[in-house]
Order: sequence, then structure tokens, then C-alpha cells
Amino acid sequence: AGGSGRLYSEEDPLVILGSSNLKPTVTNSSSAWLVQFYSSWCGHCIQYSSTWKALAQDVKGTGPHCPVRARSVVPLGANRFCVPPGADREVRSVRQLMINILQNHSRTDRPQSCPPLEPYSEKPLRFFFSSLLRSLPGVQRRSSSEAAQTGALQDGRTSEPWRDFDRSQVYTADLESALHYLLRVELAVHGTLDGAELKVFKDFVTLVAKVTAESRTSIRLEVDLLGLLYPVGGSVVKLMETLSDWLLSLPLQQIPYQAILDLVDNKMKISGVFLGAELRWVGCQGSRPGLRGYPCSLWMLFHVLTVQHDATPTALDGSGLEGEAAPVLQVMRRYIRTFFGCKECGRHFEQAAAASMDQVTTQEDEVLWLWNQHNRVNTRLAGSLSDDPVSPKAPWPSPALCPACHEESNGVHVWSHANVLAFLRRHYGASNLNPRYSL
Ligand code: FAD
Repeated sequence: AGGSGRLYSEEDPLVILGSSNLKPTVTNSSSAWLVQFYSSWCGHCIQYSSTWKALAQDVKGTGPHCPVRARSVVPLGANRFCVPPGADREVRSVRQLMINILQNHSRTDRPQSCPPLEPYSEKPLRFFFSSLLRSLPGVQRRSSSEAAQTGALQDGRTSEPWRDFDRSQVYTADLESALHYLLRVELAVHGTLDGAELKVFKDFVTLVAKVTAESRTSIRLEVDLLGLLYPVGGSVVKLMETLSDWLLSLPLQQIPYQAILDLVDNKMKISGVFLGAELRWVGCQGSRPGLRGYPCSLWMLFHVLTVQHDATPTALDGSGLEGEAAPVLQVMRRYIRTFFGCKECGRHFEQAAAASMDQVTTQEDEVLWLWNQHNRVNTRLAGSLSDDPVSPKAPWPSPALCPACHEESNGVHVWSHANVLAFLRRHYGASNLNPRYSL
């Protein structure tokens, strides 16, 4: 079994594959490979990693048992295909699935040296895997040094020094890192953007560019009065504006991802506009690799956008998005549905959007809808493997952050929506963006 990133270590009985070693390792291999493709920050993948490790433990030592050609590689993507979601994703079910695939494979175009598996199908599953395969000729154990050589893919969350931060502030470094990850990693799996996909991406870039630029102007007036520096990383705003202009100026129905990357990486640098070349999590730091990071920063980015759109309702005029009842939420919904790497999260979000997003009609509603939806996700995920003990998932804002947000009615906790709205406007407002750690 293999994959990339930080959910697995060399101690686990599996091979860690990255972009550099995936093909050379599995292509023309004499073994059948089960390859799990995952995102190390995705809660479902984190949750599923224990099943995958248990499965690897279960079949370890069986080694190459059935020579297969490259096209016979068996990809069992935990979230992508083959393994159905829900209770069925137990080790037992995945093992059964493996058996079925191997059996079908051997029936159709089994290489000559691959032993027939059919007669053993009645045997108990555990026995099938651990005993039968171990007894086959030519069985070798993959050495752990070989596994180590294949190396782990960096997911940008190396053991960096801890950055002190204040939970009552929002750090521009997190927002920049969200865009960095989104443009350089999340989008990269789409070789070419076309049709509806391209429209979703254009709308997203337009939204970020328009809303942040407009709020920058209004805030600059305000802070100029106070004699303070404008806090938002100007080059990122400029980058999104340039990207937006460029996308709108192209009458193309298709844009290769490489052209977008080229613009972000090279053309803009010439004019002094650039996006940080690394991920720098601050308020989204995890206490260990694999926790928090990108999904945290994406929530924050959209909270900032709902609040700043509320502060500058005319920001989207002329963008083509102004006709939508809840433009920020609708753009977010389409982005999550089309591009967000955690497909399971996307399905949940889509369900929530389909249930109630059409009731959102004002900018205030947008701010509160997203806050409420985020809290529902927090409640659902509290105590899960993606819950970072240093930043536990809980109804937010806590009484410590916003005492006035919490009230009691007949002995039951209730939110004061008016105070929550006021708090969110302050918290995600432009004047609460802290540029520390920003480029
Ligand atoms: P996050 O929940 O990411 O929160 C980030 C920060 O936002 C917090 O530190 C806090 O400062 C602030 N915040 C917290 N709550 C609120 C609120 N209610 N309103 C405003 N600000 C708040 N993971 C899954 O496993 N299953 C899912 O179905 C799933 N769905 C997702 C849907 C979306 C749209 C996104 C962006 C992510 C989703 N995730 C899901 C990921 C998950 O919600 C977390 O983002 C991830 O586990 C990292 O959590 P975190 O502890 O960093 O805090």
C-alpha cells in the first residue's frame, strides 16, 4: 500500500509513495499494488488511515505474489473509488474488495506465473491473505530500508518552529497560504480548466480580488486617519486582481493549468507582485504535521470574504456576481464542489447548502449562515482524529473570545445572534488582520 504525505511513517508496514517515485515503483512491478490516494489534511483521510494501516499490517509480509503488468496495478483509492463510504470501509470489507479484484484479475488476463486464486475463495478471509499468499513461491518481504528510500512527500508542514499567535486575531499569512495552496496544489490536479470548471475558478478569483481590493480602499481611508499602516498583504490583493483581469481578458474556453501557474510564478514577479513561495501557517498551525493547515485557512478566507462583502456591499458591482442573492456563499459552494480536495467534505457542504442556502438573502445572513454551518461541522468533528488537542473543535466563538455571544434562556445556552454578528464583523474585519509572519 502506498500514498504520499504525513499520515503514514516509515514504521508503518507500507510504502510511502510521492510524485517522484509513484510511477517508477508501481510501473512494471511484479507485485499487485494497492495505492491509496489521499490528502494529508482531509479529516476523512486522517480517520481512514487507521483502517489502511490495519489492512497493511494484515497483509504485510505477503510480498510480490502475483506478477502484474503496469496496467494491472490495482488502485484502491479510499475516497476516490472502489471503497464505498460509510460503515463498509472496515478492514474486512476492504480486504474482501482486494480479494475480489485479484480474483477477477486472475480470471481475465492473469500473467502466466500468477497462481490461480479461485479455489481458495471459500477459505476464511484472514487465512486467505496471511497464509495462502505467504506460502506462494517467490514471496519476498519488502525491506523497510527500501520503503525508506522511496521517501515521503513533503506536504509543506515540516517541523517548523512554533509561531506564537493570538487567537483573537486573523493572520494574513494564513490567508496567503490558503491562496498559495489553492493555486499551486489544489488546482494542479486539473491539467486544463475548461467550461463550467473555468467559470467557477474565474468567479472565485473575481470574488477575492474585488472584495479584498474594495475593503482595502475603505480601510485605508480609516487607518490613514489613525496614522497606521494598512495591514493587508497588498501584493496578494494585487496578484488576485492581475489574475482576475488576465482571466477575464482571455476569450478562451480552455486554460491549461500550467499557464495559470506561469502567470503566478513568473510574469507577476517581473512587476513585483508575488505570492509567498511557501506555506506559513500561524493561526492554522497544527500541533503536529497533518493537522489543520489548508482547510482551516480556507474557512478563514471565506469568513473574511463574507464579512468584508458585508462591509462593502457594492464591491461586486459590475463583476457579474452582483445578481446572486448570496454571491460569496454561492461562489464558495461552487468552488468546494468543483475543486476542494476533500470530496467527502464537499458532499457534506453541498447537502447543507442545498438545505438552506436559498434562504440567505442579505450580506448579514451570509456571515451568519457560514458561521452556523462551520459550527455544525465543528460539532460533528469534535473528538475525531483530525481534532487537534491544542485547538479543539468546539462551538465558536468561545465565551472567552466573546462573552456577549452567549446567553441563557430557561437554563439553556443560546447564541445572541446580534452579538455574534457584531463579533464576526470585528474578528474577520480588515482592521483585525495581522500581517505578522506575512511576506
Ligand atoms: P477549523 O474548523 O478549520 O476552523 C478554522 C478557524 O476558524 C478556527 O481556528 C477558528 O479561529 C475559526 N472558527 C471556528 N469555528 C468557526 C465558526 N463557526 N465561524 C467562524 N470562524 C470559526 N472535515 C471533515 O472531516 N469532514 C467534513 O465534512 C468537513 N467539511 C468541510 C467543509 C468545508 C467547506 C471546509 C473548508 C472544511 C471542511 N472540513 C471537513 C475540514 C474541517 O472543517 C477543518 O477545517 C479541519 O479539520 C481543520 O480544523 P481546525 O481545527 O484547524 O479548525
